[in-house]
Amino acid sequence: MNFAIETTNLSKSFGSVQAVNAVNLHVKLGEIYGFLGLNGAGKTTTIRSLLGMIRPTTGTVRILNKEVGPHGKGPWQAVGHMVETPTAYPELSVKENLEIARRLHGIADKSVITRTVEQLKLTPYRNRKAGTLSTGNRQRLGLARALLHRPKLLILDEPTSGLDPAGVVEIREFLAALAREEGVTIFMSSHILTEVARLATRIGIIHEGYLIEELEAQELDALRSQRLEIKTRDLSTAQTVLSQAGYAVTAQENTLMLHDAHAITAPDEVATLLVNAGTPPTQLVVTFENLEDHFLRLTGVHA
Ligand code: ATP
Repeated sequence: MNFAIETTNLSKSFGSVQAVNAVNLHVKLGEIYGFLGLNGAGKTTTIRSLLGMIRPTTGTVRILNKEVGPHGKGPWQAVGHMVETPTAYPELSVKENLEIARRLHGIADKSVITRTVEQLKLTPYRNRKAGTLSTGNRQRLGLARALLHRPKLLILDEPTSGLDPAGVVEIREFLAALAREEGVTIFMSSHILTEVARLATRIGIIHEGYLIEELEAQELDALRSQRLEIKTRDLSTAQTVLSQAGYAVTAQENTLMLHDAHAITAPDEVATLLVNAGTPPTQLVVTFENLEDHFLRLTGVHA
């Protein structure tokens, strides 16, 4: 199997801090891989190791079937990246910033700039100083720079951080189209599961330096457990009545949750109990555990 990214026991420590611990990543060609973890989980350290920006303490990294070695060795002509907040020369325009990137990459064809500016919807801002751009447009400029040389693999660290919801959707759609239409492999980190779940075809979850799960995005739904959510005007009476009837009840804000299979298959019996107790349900719905709860349960943050 040819992987776009493959790490073998990748570890990196900073003094006594073990930031990344024996991580074995497998990113297939053409997939959108969401690399998910809470703040401080080890995402940026992993990404820096993938890009040869820092040297792993132990372990190896292969990118597009080439081993990433010391002295910046790697298939970098085929890789685009955006790590942390993209930096640009603030006094130079969008076009001038991209012109510098074009020369650094040794691209002879000057039309790549116009094409990439159009692709990232930066045309109205092409002559604006980079320092005056909104967060969203600065992020787009970072992506434009990462894409200028038409890489086969794009490695992005939190590409939607700092964007408003509309900006998040726009970047997500852009990346999905890039993978779909041009076959670009995308590896992106995020700390927001719902965001990754909408875009990624595969997901790797890193926690305290360990890769604790690697799964197909469509497996997520099957993993999330079902529950019956109940809203009622008198939550504490309802909780007592349901507990006395033998249900295991948990309360979250103004909602009661039942995980018993019986409650999920026979919510009408729960409703009858509540009606008879004088606290009829105002809402009764079978839902999946939400993605954030699943993620937090996996990482042990929630029981
Ligand atoms: P965030 O989303 O907050 O950036 P992250 O998942 O990217 O989190 P990392 O930045 O990789 O996490 O950090 C992982 C751990 O390694 C943290 O405990 C961090 O403090 C530590 N760390 C990272 N870089 C260094 C460094 N240069 N020196 C010392 N410790 C570091």
